[in-house]
Amino acid sequence: MSLQLARWDSGGILLTYWCNAACADCYENSSPRKNSILPVEDAKEYLRELRQLGCTGPRFHFAGGEPFYNYRHLIDCFEVAQEEGMLPLGKLETNAFWCTNDELVRERLTEIERFGIVELLVSSDVFHQEFVPMKGRKDEKISRTCERD
Ligand code: SF4
Repeated sequence: MSLQLARWDSGGILLTYWCNAACADCYENSSPRKNSILPVEDAKEYLRELRQLGCTGPRFHFAGGEPFYNYRHLIDCFEVAQEEGMLPLGKLETNAFWCTNDELVRERLTEIERFGIVELLVSSDVFHQEFVPMKGRKDEKISRTCERD
């Protein structure tokens, strides 16, 4: 009997274990005490390997920790994905802690759109709200900015 493995067509990459939050249910145990970040050169190698395995950009997601920990690093990783021919990219996860004003949100969403991000996933539940409160919800700034533009 031969065993046939299904083709690997989707994947994700954790850019850092740092997070402004330390949610009780975080399966990565991310927190502000963890400052490790994935070197861009390593990201390039993993993306290349994943692409060779059949994973395409739209079936790919970027996460953390909080991927917006170091915004420049996030964009550098997207550029590496672009070099590897993986655009458009799939999903990007965030708890939206960085959404401190409309102008910043607009600026970053515009730049991220350039890489074809299909979905921006905003984490929000009772565990997250301990660190990113509902009052003046940050993700509202994202929706407001998206609606206007
Ligand atoms: S926001 Fe997400 S990555 Fe950060 S601690 Fe909470 S569950 Fe973990």
